[in-house]
Amino acid sequence: MQLTKENLSKLDFKKSDMLPAIIQDAATGQILMQGFMDQAAVEMTFEKGLVTFYSRSKQRLWTKGETSENYLELVSAHTDCDFDSILVLANPKGPTCHLGTTSCFGDAKPHLAFLAELENVIVERKDADPASSYTASLFAKDLSRSCQKVGEEGVEVALAAMKKDNEELLNESADLLYHLTVLLQRSELNLKDVIDTLEQRHK
Ligand code: AMP
Ligand code: ZN
Ligand code: ZN
Ligand code: ZN
Repeated sequence: MQLTKENLSKLDFKKSDMLPAIIQDAATGQILMQGFMDQAAVEMTFEKGLVTFYSRSKQRLWTKGETSENYLELVSAHTDCDFDSILVLANPKGPTCHLGTTSCFGDAKPHLAFLAELENVIVERKDADPASSYTASLFAKDLSRSCQKVGEEGVEVALAAMKKDNEELLNESADLLYHLTVLLQRSELNLKDVIDTLEQRHK
């Protein structure tokens, strides 16, 4: 069940005054960290829009990122079937682990997470020096160049499949996904918008 400011009283603090909270990257689905939230931490998370825990070591409310600025921006919060644990979807503003890694759980992540990571890198290259990367040089060229690339790569995917050359099919599919992601960005669209469209049709 999705939690809102209005229904926080649903949470069951009777068994324990701290509930485990799992923080998941809203874009990639990667689990970033786990902490504990008391009632005040949950309320502050909603008030600030920043994930806030009760730190057992600091023995006080702790907004993740308060010194490092690696905040976890609240996207949505959910509780489980018996209201005694919390799942938070968040946008991380930097590495979540104090050891400098994206996640406290090392590199465990869903495979599709990489598409969102690739899209983030592509977005970062939008305004970069064209001499610094291939992606930046694409953004510097006419939109028609990206349209042409998507067309070419689409045809190459089809030809590779017709030839039953799976190695080529993989390479051309990778090219197509990359150039499609670039083209979408040049049209101010995200992969999420494509996924929303697919989900709409699925209903
Ligand atoms: P921060 O909240 O990122 O400004 O970090 C403040 C302090 O909280 C750090 O010096 C660590 O002691 C601790 N800390 C930060 N991130 C984590 C984490 N993911 N898990 C456990 N402790 C953390
Ligand atoms: Zn439960
Ligand atoms: Zn950590
Ligand atoms: Zn190709």
